[in-house]
Amino acid sequence: MQIELRCLQCCCNFRAPPDTPAPEVIDQMTEEGPWFALGDGDTFEDMIFAALIQRGNIRCPDCREPVAINEASMSRYFLETSLRC
Ligand SMILES: [Zn+2]
Repeated sequence: MQIELRCLQCCCNFRAPPDTPAPEVIDQMTEEGPWFALGDGDTFEDMIFAALIQRGNIRCPDCREPVAINEASMSRYFLETSLRC
């Protein structure tokens, strides 16, 4: 299972398993971009929750729209929709 942050305006997205350690999440954002502003936490899931508690939403780094947070499965449908962006 993975959690996906996806901007519905410009298709910026970031995806990682919820238990990914924070340093790995930051490494992955540094390498892949875009850099979503998350909260402090030990894991990707904690960082998302911290951001939601502090700010109420997570915004797209490009267009500043709140992003959708999905539990992404690696289904064929999901892969096809990902590739469109
Ligand atoms: Zn965007």
